[in-house]
Amino acid sequence: MTCIFCEIVAGRQPADIVYEDEQAVAFRDIKPQAPVHILIIPREHISGPLHVDGDNASLIGHLIAVAAQVAGQEGIAEAGYRLVTNQGRAGGQSVYHLHLHLLGGRRMGWPPG
Ligand code: AMP
Repeated sequence: MTCIFCEIVAGRQPADIVYEDEQAVAFRDIKPQAPVHILIIPREHISGPLHVDGDNASLIGHLIAVAAQVAGQEGIAEAGYRLVTNQGRAGGQSVYHLHLHLLGGRRMGWPPG
């Protein structure tokens, strides 16, 4: 089955890319839930946080560092932002390629829905 985020990484699907490096790509969510809503993904296909293990765990630190950099670019670093990663059906995951949601530009509620 084709992975839409792998297609974006490969440049076969359009995306509004705001950052990329040799390990990660960040692009705007097509259905934004906040004034700033960016997805940060590894180039490597990992289906979700459940599949992060000893071999790829350092990648997660990198994705969080990329989120911090993109938050700076977007002007939301100082005010604050939220990082979310969903796992599986009950977690609300709809795309099975690991991603961090970077959400900002408004006050986030707690508890999350
Ligand atoms: P999740 O539900 O946590 O798996 O998040 C998947 C996110 O990917 C959702 O917020 C979707 O709006 C977003 N999304 C799906 N397809 C695309 C796409 N082609 N470009 C940008 N964002 C997308």
